[in-house]
Amino acid sequence: MLTAASAVTGLILPTGMAFAQTASATAQAGNAGHYRFRVGNITATVLSDGLIGGPPRVYASDAPEVELQEVLRHAFLPTDRLTLNLNTLLIETNGRRILLEAGAGQTMGPQGGRVFENLAAIGLLPEDIDVVVVSHTHPDHVGNLRTADGGKAFPRATVFAPRADWDFFVRNDPDLSYMPVPEEFRRNFAAAIKRSVEPVANGIELYEAGTEIVPGLTTLPALGHTPGMANFLVQSGNDQLLLTADLAYHPIVNVDRPWLPGPDRDKDTALASRRRIFDMAATDRLLVLGFHYPFPGLGRMLKTDAGYSWVPANWQF
Ligand SMILES: [Zn+2]
Repeated sequence: MLTAASAVTGLILPTGMAFAQTASATAQAGNAGHYRFRVGNITATVLSDGLIGGPPRVYASDAPEVELQEVLRHAFLPTDRLTLNLNTLLIETNGRRILLEAGAGQTMGPQGGRVFENLAAIGLLPEDIDVVVVSHTHPDHVGNLRTADGGKAFPRATVFAPRADWDFFVRNDPDLSYMPVPEEFRRNFAAAIKRSVEPVANGIELYEAGTEIVPGLTTLPALGHTPGMANFLVQSGNDQLLLTADLAYHPIVNVDRPWLPGPDRDKDTALASRRRIFDMAATDRLLVLGFHYPFPGLGRMLKTDAGYSWVPANWQF
């Protein structure tokens, strides 16, 4: 027994020490904020930009109070604040690196802005990004376009944004009275959009939802949350990935329950978009990435008698 144990110890010790060193390095750096997978020939990597959040009521505007509290408690979540993730996606295709959503940066709280350290963790710098496409121009999707000193955070990237959002939020002073948040929040929200996109305004590529950005990346109209919001369909061979942007904020309130996100500007149009795209996802059994869903945000939509159900995808190593 002793001999066998010594032999085993002798075999595993170096690996064990290496593991201990790796584990301590990981503890210092925190948990991984990147998740790599493939869509056909396309390499896809979810890069977390961190977290935002707010009162649950904001994200479930028409939920009866008792039911909302119950749903949060049953999910073992706090009842006073709902935390949302920021799952940006890097796709690498035909020699180009394309970032889908820029992320929030510090525009909506101190827990955003991690996309740069997560890029670094996979060996990339901001100048390695060729294209940034945003689904809509809310601050949590454009916040990282600007550096602290007012420059372009992705200095080489061509930035694509939906034309209708640009007209509404950037070229005009939007009436945000539909948003169920304090007036000061609305003012900061509107200002954060203009400030974030200012460095890229010259040279911005405005698109209509429904057009192809590059081969393998198509935008789909998903209007209602904002005037121009798009979804993204990434395709390679028989593989597809659907990015649903902000059709839903958190699956427990906007997928598993049908409650309407308060920040939807046109709630009827947003609801129709949500149903049309969730139906497509369920029928075609598509792999879906939810921008604000628990990291890494991948899963599938199931059609149920009551509506839909979110089924997270299994982790892949
Ligand atoms: Zn968002």
